[in-house]
Amino acid sequence: MKITTIEAFLAPPEWTFVRVETDEGITGWGEAGMSFRARAVREAIHDMREILIGQDPTKIEFHWQVMRKSSFFRGGPVLSSALAAIDIALWDILGKSLGVPVHVLLGGPVRETARAYAWIGGDDLCAISSEELVDETLGLVDQGFTAFKLTPPKTSAIDVPSYGSKLMGHLSALRNSIGPDRDIALDVHGRWSKTMARRLLPILEPLDLIFVEEPILAENLHMVGELTSTTKLPIATGERLFSRWDFLDVVKSGVAVIQPDVALAGGISETRRIAAQAEPYDVVVAPHCPFGPITLAASLQIDFATPNFLIQEQSITFFGDQFLRYLKDPSVFNFKDGSFVQTTAPGLGIEIDESMVLRMAAIGHNHKQPLWWHSDGSYAEF
Ligand SMILES: [Mg+2]
Repeated sequence: MKITTIEAFLAPPEWTFVRVETDEGITGWGEAGMSFRARAVREAIHDMREILIGQDPTKIEFHWQVMRKSSFFRGGPVLSSALAAIDIALWDILGKSLGVPVHVLLGGPVRETARAYAWIGGDDLCAISSEELVDETLGLVDQGFTAFKLTPPKTSAIDVPSYGSKLMGHLSALRNSIGPDRDIALDVHGRWSKTMARRLLPILEPLDLIFVEEPILAENLHMVGELTSTTKLPIATGERLFSRWDFLDVVKSGVAVIQPDVALAGGISETRRIAAQAEPYDVVVAPHCPFGPITLAASLQIDFATPNFLIQEQSITFFGDQFLRYLKDPSVFNFKDGSFVQTTAPGLGIEIDESMVLRMAAIGHNHKQPLWWHSDGSYAEF
């Protein structure tokens, strides 16, 4: 079998899909993260054609090594996303050619279902009332969700005391409404300074959060040990790290949870290795996945086969039909009692509606990160 074509598509609202075709009629699909620079990622994918066209697609590790190393300058979000998309598509091809799901090729399933959480409260949980927050959450409880993630407001380097009390007020109302048998995660998005994190984490401890994500920025992770050693709240991080080398010091830093993204961190091959790298440090994995259907499918294949999996991010509840329209059979994402049920179809377990991808790619997208500003006009972390 030989690779014949590789084509990347900008699929609205904000995703980058890749299709890898072979001379035996088997087509693999992948997805790249880094949606805020999607056109750069698309060109990086197309730039890799010259090392892959005519090659055997089942030599996944060989191609991974060449794709990562042949630019001399390695890693980073753009190149790692492009590599990830093609790696996912190659695993899809291998699974389809052998007639088995990817999780079988990763050693076979270690679990039958993968628990998932839903986002609530938009980009700022304090922008709505605590009553609205509770209403939104109880609607998702009715859909079966048992875990929820929220994002706190932006803050200055050292903010006024009411920042913490307002945050605690909203989160306490939420905890009281859903009780102690469901989980709340807080995704700080790197909005806090280390100083604010040290002030706020002790205030939040009574809430028994499942994790506090990115309490400080990824580029400041050399300081994360100062937080993990002083709070009992589980600290999570990793969506802005792209390889085993990026995660090497982080898994030793006392964090409880890492969050590699299969569409950003070198695909199924590298995400699987990052999970294994974390296991000896008793660190569990909550795959980052705010992206499209191919990223979720690839993430689930890893979840089913990875012993130190914790919980899966998903965006179906956010995007709805915009997400599901790319699937020939949306019911493959079988969500029951708060978890996705193990898939059985070959490869990634989904069938992409190619005609829909082509139709939507003709529209394309130019998705960009929202720009936030402090009251004095300076840049604020989103
Ligand atoms: Mg996050």
